[in-house]
Amino acid sequence: MNPFLTSKVTELSRSRSIYLGFCAFMEVIIIMAMVSLLKDGKWSSALLGLLFLLGFARPIVREIIKQRDFKNAKEIASYFNGIPSESIKMSQINQKIRIADPIKQIERLLKKGYLTNIHLDWEKDLVVLMALGSSKRYVEISCPNCGAKTVILQGRVKNCEYCGSTLLGNKSE
Ligand SMILES: [Zn+2]
Repeated sequence: MNPFLTSKVTELSRSRSIYLGFCAFMEVIIIMAMVSLLKDGKWSSALLGLLFLLGFARPIVREIIKQRDFKNAKEIASYFNGIPSESIKMSQINQKIRIADPIKQIERLLKKGYLTNIHLDWEKDLVVLMALGSSKRYVEISCPNCGAKTVILQGRVKNCEYCGSTLLGNKSE
């Protein structure tokens, strides 16, 4: 298992393929019906057909977007899995991952819950990889003073980026 991929990233199931095949089949039927309606000059009926056309197109378009996200998530996760260090410069990633605007993609895929154990540190321009090696690992903590969330190397001390309080990296969640 890749530690950066979540269980949401799955292969297309058989039942889902059948459902999408059915939607595609309906699209063909509707287009054929619309063509004959237009030939007969029944414009309003043809327009109604357009609504059905869009209705059946929706799950197909959504699946295409989802599969593209899964592919990107897998590519990003496998790249991170092969890195021995625990953080990488954002600029370095832009060169290594052949996806348009990879940092934006990582942010998006994290929000969607497809990627995990990755923290984007915008201030330091770093991508921090959590839960990697056994000796050192990053933990997510909340500042006891202001509640801001941040990541810190286990056993280390640093100051809160927002209020300046001292933070201890000893709480693992
Ligand atoms: Zn704070």
